[in-house]
Amino acid sequence: MLLEELRQKVVDYGNQLISSGLTVGTAGNISMFDPETGYMVISPSGIPYAKTTAEDVVVMDLKGNIIESDRKPSSENGLHAAFYLEKPEARAVVHAHSMYCTTLACAGIDLQATHYAIADAGVATLPTIPYATYGTPELAELVREELRESDSKAFLMANHGMVAYGDSLEKAFAMAMTAEWCAQVQWRAMAISVPNILTDEQMDEVIEHYKTYGQAKTDDKSSQGYFG
Ligand code: 13P
Ligand code: ZN
Repeated sequence: MLLEELRQKVVDYGNQLISSGLTVGTAGNISMFDPETGYMVISPSGIPYAKTTAEDVVVMDLKGNIIESDRKPSSENGLHAAFYLEKPEARAVVHAHSMYCTTLACAGIDLQATHYAIADAGVATLPTIPYATYGTPELAELVREELRESDSKAFLMANHGMVAYGDSLEKAFAMAMTAEWCAQVQWRAMAISVPNILTDEQMDEVIEHYKTYGQAKTDDKSSQGYFG
């Protein structure tokens, strides 16, 4: 089986999408990129995560051709490919319909620096990708356009959900968890008051501090991010 290890990892993290509460049912999808072959491996469309096996995970090139698997790939395969085409460091993408990010994205409210932990994304406010029908080339193109403009590691998707990427699946998943936690904090703060949003200067300082947060990057125990 081609890229078996990566395909198994997509299965394992698919199960974590459910166990972490980041998504329900068959919503969301996960991919990883293999720079040696230039292929990505992506979760199959509409198969419950608990029933997905490594064979079900589809190997594709970045032009949308299926290289291995009998399954239909995630409807968002074009959106995932956009990350690997635009961001050379990207090795994994996590898309989820997580409750609080999705709530803000449906209300047209930016996920701002209500809590400093959003600095995991490398920006103070997550960009929101405009709405287009799920699984379409239009949505993939809107993502691609945003990626050309932005250095953020996570994005809201209007009336849809969120998407995060990283140079490992661990980091992409931790980024998704952090964005969701920050969205929940913001939602709660908005429910009782008007949140105090950190200034750009305060966030620049946090982003700078984050570069040396925790243990040295080479340490086995080094975190992959706030939730890693
Ligand atoms: P897939 O099951 O095709 O991956 O679709 C889920 C989804 O979240 C679409 O945006
Ligand atoms: Zn979706």
